[in-house]
Amino acid sequence: MHTALSPEFANSARGRRAGEILRKCVHCGFCNAACPTYQLLGDELDGPRGRIYQMKQFFEGAAAGDAMRLHLDRCLLCRSCETACPSGVQYGELLEIGRAELEEKFPRRAPARAWRVLLGRVFSSRKFFAALMRVARACKWALPKKTARMIPAAQSPTSPAPARAPHERKMLALAGCVQPALSAGANPAAARVLDQLGITLFEEPAAGCCGAVQLHTSDLARGKAAARALMDRWLPHLEHIEAVVMTASGCGLTIKEYPLLFADEPEYAEKARRIADKTLDLCEVVARELPRDWTPRAAPKRVAFHAPCTLQHGQRISGVIEELLRRAGHEVCEVRGAHLCCGSAGTYSLLQPEIAARLRRDKLAALGAGRPQVICTANVGCQNHLAAGADIPVVHWIELL
Ligand code: SF4
Ligand code: SF4
Repeated sequence: MHTALSPEFANSARGRRAGEILRKCVHCGFCNAACPTYQLLGDELDGPRGRIYQMKQFFEGAAAGDAMRLHLDRCLLCRSCETACPSGVQYGELLEIGRAELEEKFPRRAPARAWRVLLGRVFSSRKFFAALMRVARACKWALPKKTARMIPAAQSPTSPAPARAPHERKMLALAGCVQPALSAGANPAAARVLDQLGITLFEEPAAGCCGAVQLHTSDLARGKAAARALMDRWLPHLEHIEAVVMTASGCGLTIKEYPLLFADEPEYAEKARRIADKTLDLCEVVARELPRDWTPRAAPKRVAFHAPCTLQHGQRISGVIEELLRRAGHEVCEVRGAHLCCGSAGTYSLLQPEIAARLRRDKLAALGAGRPQVICTANVGCQNHLAAGADIPVVHWIELL
């Protein structure tokens, strides 16, 4: 697509990168068919092709306004359109540049800005979020039914910590910010399975959020600050570990993309590359390490797996977890429209609650079609969002191994 950047954007690195991506788009519209918001709202401006066109106009010098913001805000950043695009348009990167530039040139009104900053702060602080969840659980009875359903019951880890002495092979896990309070079983279950495979999984307790929450709310400065702090905590461990294992695919994608985020910061670009090179999703590790003659221990169940967008479209990992679940003896149900987002999308379910609720309703109908006993997924956000509307348990897939 021919693109003539305005002088302001032609003279900035971010503007030139946006121009490069825009030029790859041939405006064919194949991506629209894969887009959840286009399917739901039926408006060209709420599909990837329309959003790309709005960003092109903005980068060419057209005035930005609330209308453009509305359509960019409604994007889930699920990147289903990237998977569908035959021209390799890096839509996710373009949207992140577009949103960041829009925030700078056309700032939101103060209350909306404050709400986003608050969300970023609350969700990225493990201690504060855990305390908030304790209070919310205690007051659940007094909350409106809709809000109360968003607060999951306290989960005690289903897997005890491995009792044996540490193995020689070691891997590092992200303790996470919201995961300990919302999906307490995930990391202990990962440690149990890896222990059976001769690997010790440990956490660096002082390491905080990966920055994904702030980046999702277009708060680039705070997102990068969180990422730098995490890298500095992790770097001393890198020599002694085989891999950084991610049990939440959203955080995994963020960390795998640190090199892109820090491309223009010489001091952190190398650190980002070293950490990203060692980062693997948990399913990549288990699939690689599981011996052929492995004997499953879990009782077989009928399971529906929800593939998070950050896993299938962001990290381009598909079918691996379903295969592991089958190897564990479970019956895995077919899920129609498995490429579509469930509506969680980081903080999206709080910022765009109506669209998120409609996407969840459709996703739960697709997941429930095969009459599963349990739904599982690979990202804490999807797990909690789906659980708020599901009438069967929603767990992390590793808890079923
Ligand atoms: S993003 Fe890709 S699929 Fe969508 S209109 Fe552009 S070239 Fe076509
Ligand atoms: S990222 Fe998802 S919601 Fe956004 S345009 Fe692409 S397919 Fe649509």
